[in-house]
Amino acid sequence: MKKSLSFLLISLLLITPIATFGQKGGFAEVKQLQSPQNPRLGFVIHGGAGVIKKGSLSPEKELEYRKQLEAAVVAGYKALQAGKSSLDAVEIAIRMLEDSPLFNAGKGAVFNHDGINELDSSIMNGKDLSAGAVAGVHRVKNPISLARAVMEKSPHVMMVGDGAEKFAAEQKIELVDPKYFFTQERFDALQKILKEEKEKENQKPKLQSLNGENPLLERMTETQRLSENRFGTVGAVALDKNGNLAAGTSTGGMTNKKFGRVGDAPIIGAGTFADNETCAVSATGWGEYFIRLGVARDISTQMQYRAAPVQQAADAALEKVKKLGGDGGVIAIDKFGNIGISFNSEGMYRAYIDANGKPVVEIYK
Ligand code: ASP
Repeated sequence: MKKSLSFLLISLLLITPIATFGQKGGFAEVKQLQSPQNPRLGFVIHGGAGVIKKGSLSPEKELEYRKQLEAAVVAGYKALQAGKSSLDAVEIAIRMLEDSPLFNAGKGAVFNHDGINELDSSIMNGKDLSAGAVAGVHRVKNPISLARAVMEKSPHVMMVGDGAEKFAAEQKIELVDPKYFFTQERFDALQKILKEEKEKENQKPKLQSLNGENPLLERMTETQRLSENRFGTVGAVALDKNGNLAAGTSTGGMTNKKFGRVGDAPIIGAGTFADNETCAVSATGWGEYFIRLGVARDISTQMQYRAAPVQQAADAALEKVKKLGGDGGVIAIDKFGNIGISFNSEGMYRAYIDANGKPVVEIYK
């Protein structure tokens, strides 16, 4: 009797501050509430902020995206239900998205300026803050698995280019002919941008913003500005039955990126971060801004030092991206299973498992 009374008191003490955060001071609504006494599973994925304008995505294409997102979120969640780790769930779902030509990662990766697919990826374990990342690989079918191998089978955190591929071969990670990554749609998008760039060549570069717009954006061609040509990264965040958080991200980067450019996706603290004390985060968007602001780590830090709820921390981080002139989004999950999703782009392909264990897929705002 005494025991259950003290349990009730402790539970109330733990829940009250979180519940209050949900109501006061303009804090965004906390989607799900859970106390540490009642651990739960949590899983969220994204397929990038590269969403085609509402109305221009055909119903068939939209259905394809929805199906693929649902299949990946369900597969990751089933792994968690079967007792697998948050790292396993993240890897399983991201591999599925990498294998789909719909997303800008693995098979559907965009082309760089030279017409080459250059892939970046990273993964982080919230339990011990171990992390692995790869950048600029051309032959790795599933970069997320190579990132995990770097984390678990090497003394390093990040490997790039040929060296990373040599390590992949050593680790028996599947390598493919670079032609595997060819998709007509992505190739056509690059050709269109290259053509527009040529046409623009005679114009003086506008270093100063003329109409208050981001000067970097003004340097891009019309086609390059479209978010579907800039973003489409995939990512996942998970909470497993042991209370361990993990995050992973995988991308082809941005169409027409300069050869050798590395975005935020493989940078720990920018595109990916996980810490059991706070949250797990995966980002998508204009990578340069996410690197400069250390977005994923910023969300975790706000939770750690300001006790910010995950949704509020995600919103605040995205606000900073917007202020600086960038765009994109994040998915995050805290150690109780509360979900934070925030983006300032047209939309963001995303899916999560709700409090009733059901998959929810969303695309637009
Ligand atoms: N963040 C990625 C990059 O800058 C692009 C994306 O999210 O699609 O490489």
